[in-house]
Amino acid sequence: MSNSSDFLTNARKLLHDIFGFTDFKPAQAEVIEALCQGHNVLALMPTGAGKSLCYQIPALLHQGVTVVISPLIALMDDQVAAAHMAGIAAGALHSGTSPENIRIMANKMRDNTLKLLYVSPERAVTNRFINFLHQVSVSFFAIDEAHCVSQWGHDFRPEYRRLSILAKHFPNVPRIALTATANSHTREDILHYLSLPNPKIFVHSFDRPNIDYQVIEKSNGKKQLLKFIRSMGNDCCGIVYCSSRKKVENITRFLQEESINALPYHAGMDNQQRSYNQRKFTQEDGIIMVATVAFGMGIDKPDVRFVAHLDMPPSIERFYQESGRAGRDGLPAVSWLCHGLNDFVLLHERIMESSSDNTQKNIELAKLAQMLAYCENNSCRRKFLLSCLDENSEKEHCGHCDNCRQPPECFDALLPVQKLLSCIWRVKQAFPATHIIDILRGRLTEDVSHHNHDKLSTFGIGKEFNIHQWRSIIRQCIAYGCLNVSFVDQSLRLTTMARPLLLGEKSISLRIPYRHHTDKLTEFKQLLTVRQEKLWIALKQWRIETAKSQDVPAFVIFNDRTLQELVEKMPTCITDLYDIYGLGEAKIQHFGVEIINLCRIAKDG
Ligand code: ADP
Ligand code: MG
Repeated sequence: MSNSSDFLTNARKLLHDIFGFTDFKPAQAEVIEALCQGHNVLALMPTGAGKSLCYQIPALLHQGVTVVISPLIALMDDQVAAAHMAGIAAGALHSGTSPENIRIMANKMRDNTLKLLYVSPERAVTNRFINFLHQVSVSFFAIDEAHCVSQWGHDFRPEYRRLSILAKHFPNVPRIALTATANSHTREDILHYLSLPNPKIFVHSFDRPNIDYQVIEKSNGKKQLLKFIRSMGNDCCGIVYCSSRKKVENITRFLQEESINALPYHAGMDNQQRSYNQRKFTQEDGIIMVATVAFGMGIDKPDVRFVAHLDMPPSIERFYQESGRAGRDGLPAVSWLCHGLNDFVLLHERIMESSSDNTQKNIELAKLAQMLAYCENNSCRRKFLLSCLDENSEKEHCGHCDNCRQPPECFDALLPVQKLLSCIWRVKQAFPATHIIDILRGRLTEDVSHHNHDKLSTFGIGKEFNIHQWRSIIRQCIAYGCLNVSFVDQSLRLTTMARPLLLGEKSISLRIPYRHHTDKLTEFKQLLTVRQEKLWIALKQWRIETAKSQDVPAFVIFNDRTLQELVEKMPTCITDLYDIYGLGEAKIQHFGVEIINLCRIAKDG
């Protein structure tokens, strides 16, 4: 093995010449070096940290083929397309690969000219495949999305457990496992089931500094969503998560009627339509995917500008994973979440009605409580989120979330909270939030008069707040811990923390309910000159056409960050292109002339 500085020089050269990047991202160089030195590696790095490069560069630095295990066909095909575009010899082996293609790849492996082979876990463990690998030279094994091996993760795939067979057959080939799921259970499962002896473990911070976190209280979810999408500009790409299939259909229709380029995705649609929509989303610009959780793994489109949650997810882990699909390219992106008391009540109900045992139910209730606490949290969202992932951020304020930008105004809430708690007490803790609010606001509904609740001293004592405001106060009280929701009938119950408040022995400060957020991200496009705007449009158009003609996703041609740099710098000769983010030798050879022509026209024009 060459010495470390030579090695890094070579790796850096590849980074620049093949991938068109100037610097390694955090942890990449260390991971690459460890793998090339022959260590087994476990890399825990968040989405967008650039895990692929951690095995692609070693593959290029060494003789033989690097075998990459990947769980999804679409994911493999995109990676292969991207590798080809960068001039790397790569192939994929899965149920959709033609015999002809298999023959070609096999020959290339015998000749030692294939650098990367992506393979599904099912194929990787067959005798046939393993026997074949014995006849060729294998440089590394990379096991991507390694959390699939664990039942603790969200995407358990039993076939992953059989991958330890690779360790048995090829004990001397270094293996790297990569994942963005960091919790300790998953980590132990990976080390155990993939049998990675003496691994070097790299843990990268799970902070996603380019994501701006925003939470708003739900009043009219649809309209709030529309307003948010419009604030993001016209042609940006995003994902909207909804809690049910029906809602996905409904929201898609609504957005389409508002001339938004939206498509639906959920497990109840027929397969063909679903893959068509997914393909369209990855390949084209400016599509908004409205989806259930079914839309998830394998979406590694780098230029998703926002992830919107129209309903509260059931746990921080899920939220982190879903919101993390925004901004893989490192450019500004937004996580927007709109939540209301109903979300909490429904999720609560769902957990209680599930067939899980009590231990599991309690785990899930605790996760839900944590999620609510994120929504109701009045200080830095990022700090809170990271603390849930067992990471302590040094900064109190990230300056890059709604609460940091505009600290919530709080008020002394003792009096309204006492009204609320005593009302709940007087109805014997046997009624749900809606009913309690009706009493407080003095509404004579059928239920209220049926139970004679209009005779209570608390009837009509809370008219100063509307329904949304009361709901907000109730949620904040749940998050504070003086209230909870009954497992049985969703009625509101007092906890021991309610007593000192009722007696006035403690004070409580809450956020002034129902604040309209007017946060808006300064969009790059708004800063453009007329010429730049022209070039922006021309390059995008050219990218769509080129992607279509080559049958690859648009971002494989080049991504938004490249687009942004081209527009900023307007290069006029081929050599200038080498300084542009994301353009390496192969892409410049292929597209350099066309890109320069477009830039020249814009500059002259
Ligand atoms: P992950 O698998 O960790 O989610 P990817 O490997 O898909 O991340 O990479 C995310 C994005 O970052 C891709 O668009 C990739 O091209 C880009 N990228 C990777 N390494 C670098 C780097 N050193 N400099 C700039 N961009 C990078
Ligand atoms: Mg990846």
